[in-house]
Amino acid sequence: MNPIYLDYAATTPVAPEVAAAMAECLTLDGNFANPASRSHRYGWQAEQAVETARGQVAALIGADAREIVWTSGATESNNLALKGVLEAAGKGHLAVSAIEHKSVLDPAEWLAAQGNELTLIDPDSTGQITPEAVRAALRDNTRLVSVMLINNELGTVNPIADIAQVCREHGCLLHVDAAQALGKMPVDVAALGVDLLSMSAHKVYGPKGVGALYVRRSGAVNVAAQIHGGGHERGMRSGTLATHQCVGFGVAAAMAADELDSRPEQLARLRDRLWQGVSGLPGVRLNGHPTERSCSHLNITFGEVDGEMLLLSLRELAISTGSACTSATVSPSYVLSAIGLSSAQALASLRISLGRYTSAEEVERAIKHINTVVGKLTAKAS
Ligand code: PMP
Repeated sequence: MNPIYLDYAATTPVAPEVAAAMAECLTLDGNFANPASRSHRYGWQAEQAVETARGQVAALIGADAREIVWTSGATESNNLALKGVLEAAGKGHLAVSAIEHKSVLDPAEWLAAQGNELTLIDPDSTGQITPEAVRAALRDNTRLVSVMLINNELGTVNPIADIAQVCREHGCLLHVDAAQALGKMPVDVAALGVDLLSMSAHKVYGPKGVGALYVRRSGAVNVAAQIHGGGHERGMRSGTLATHQCVGFGVAAAMAADELDSRPEQLARLRDRLWQGVSGLPGVRLNGHPTERSCSHLNITFGEVDGEMLLLSLRELAISTGSACTSATVSPSYVLSAIGLSSAQALASLRISLGRYTSAEEVERAIKHINTVVGKLTAKAS
């Protein structure tokens, strides 16, 4: 039997509806043309499909379609936001949360190496970045603050609207990496008060290799292009648009918007059942915020067992020790270390993440399997 897929935070399968829409944008009998070809109807049709998709992505976050810049994913969106803002504004200071995804931390370190100033903002023990911590990090020359909406390892939700207020009062821009948040909670750029917001299609049942950056339309928000070419995307990101990718993201975004009233609640019920089913094991603890948390994530420390051994033994589950991007290394997660876990605790922690296709029956099987395996490993250790 195949292992139960409980790694939706790493990526999601493409929804069949999305795959079908994408397939219509590839071959001669489909919508295959270059969306930038203005001289024939094939081009206009492709452009229309891309613009419909842009509207669908914009609608999911309450933005105007003109505020969406297509990218290859959240990694590129994060790079464009940080490097683009610092380049446009001139050298200065940036403040980013210390537990951002590497696709924020690495460009931030790169910018520091280019002569900018960098502050890493520490989270509290729940993984939250508080508005007070942001305020304390600000300087006269702060150009940009970057704090994610949902942490990819913990599932902790940050108080972005309050952080935005601090940034506004100070006169600096706020970038939010929302890769983990789309479809899991309402995301409204106006209500949140953010200037730039990164998205990725493959976390929300769209294809890998496409994402977007929301750039608020305002004279105050300037982003210098990081990929130069034909001047696509209002000069911010050149390159022929991949119609099938954009359309896939668009359909995925529309489906996520349709489900927002019911899916998060349903997932939260399954998540709570899973936690309840394993919380009786000796020494387990739930990492992250007790209430301000994503409907899909569980990050659990299994106190008395070796994490690698645990992962290897949980053969019936497809899960991860940390984020997929860092799981090639066996060093403890920097996110778990930053919220105060010891190396041993961090190494004994697993991220379990649920999604659209997770069933109640799968959750029951997962509970049974975890109890059996952890029970055996604990007996061995004692
Ligand atoms: N930010 C966060 C919070 C993520 O979880 C991920 C995916 N692991 C990324 C950025 C990178 O997104 P992509 O794979 O689209 O480049």
